[in-house]
Amino acid sequence: MKGRSLLMIPGPIEFEPSVLAAMGEATTGHTAANFVEAFGQALERLRQVFLCPDGQPFVIAGSGTLAMDLAGANLIEPGDKALVINTGYFGDRFAALLARYGAEVVQVRAPVGGRPPLEEVAAALGQARYKLITVTHVDTSTGVITDVKGLAALAREHETLIVVDGVCSVAGEELRQSEWGVDVALTASQKAISVPPGLALLVAGPRAMAAFRTRKAPVGNYYADWGNWLPIMEAYEARRPAYFATPAVNLVWALNVSLGQILAEGMEARFRRHHALGRACRAGLAALGLGQVPLAPELAANTMSAPRLPASVSGADLLKYVREAGVILAGGLHPEIRNEYFRIGHMGPTSVNDVLATVNAIESGLARCGYHFERGAGVAAAAKAYEE
Ligand code: PMP
Repeated sequence: MKGRSLLMIPGPIEFEPSVLAAMGEATTGHTAANFVEAFGQALERLRQVFLCPDGQPFVIAGSGTLAMDLAGANLIEPGDKALVINTGYFGDRFAALLARYGAEVVQVRAPVGGRPPLEEVAAALGQARYKLITVTHVDTSTGVITDVKGLAALAREHETLIVVDGVCSVAGEELRQSEWGVDVALTASQKAISVPPGLALLVAGPRAMAAFRTRKAPVGNYYADWGNWLPIMEAYEARRPAYFATPAVNLVWALNVSLGQILAEGMEARFRRHHALGRACRAGLAALGLGQVPLAPELAANTMSAPRLPASVSGADLLKYVREAGVILAGGLHPEIRNEYFRIGHMGPTSVNDVLATVNAIESGLARCGYHFERGAGVAAAAKAYEE
């Protein structure tokens, strides 16, 4: 497409034409038979994508922050203790949000680019009785991936709920909600789920639903109250229309199309493909001599990368030159290191060719910034790593 740029930020991403076409279908009412069928099917498919056959899915108009709000509003009662595993900007957000609902929040933090070791989390869990812990699977401000499986095992041991912010991970990174014992996993439409921004998506497991049903205080948020939404989700899954608040009809169509594509690829294949994309991007950047915000290779996510800028290169200049080479990347987000790094998204329909084009555009930008490296080394390393 003439004049087209490649959007490679960590959300929103580029979407499949068939998903965008669903957005353009003639809007029907929320009681129309074709909408009821699509919504019901999307709810069933969401369970499969989250690998949570016994979970309750919620699809609600809003962004990822609403999905976080749904977890906080419905699970926290004033005075509950919450433990936030903080690996960046979105850990800060969860802590603030839980406090707003009256939680006593304790945080376990790592230095920027790190993640708290399981032993440290276990020690914190040993010191008080927590109603829930939250963890960001991939913090989009650092590109750090957390050990959700290990943390969920700790949560089970300490009989606390675990809520996973999977906004930058679900449908990209390996996440097995039921098998790992994750009580709530949440995301938004615009990342690896591969649907334009506007839907909050959440799957609550049986322990989370039980905690909601036995709460004593009313939910302190009207729109987010699962009591309002549960009958709606149950009705659509039973192929009956229901109303609490108008659903985002066209986004739900697009969601159903994308979930169908995700399941056609298969979750295992999808996890493997994202792994290969992440490996390719990291190898390409390493060959150019760029470091990463994650402090060790095993802490780096597969859905995005957070490369450090060489000391001589300004992020604003680099991203401008990369954009002139046809690729849009994102600047830094974490307040402590905002000007020291940049961010690349590689999730959803992203192909290895997109990653190679991105590394090539970064090479072009670095060269224009006067940085010395072997031109072509990044692209070659990325292509080789993808094949491995
Ligand atoms: N959590 C994470 C890990 C995110 O990356 C984001 C968005 N970048 C959010 C939460 C918030 O999502 P939204 O911007 O859609 O509200």
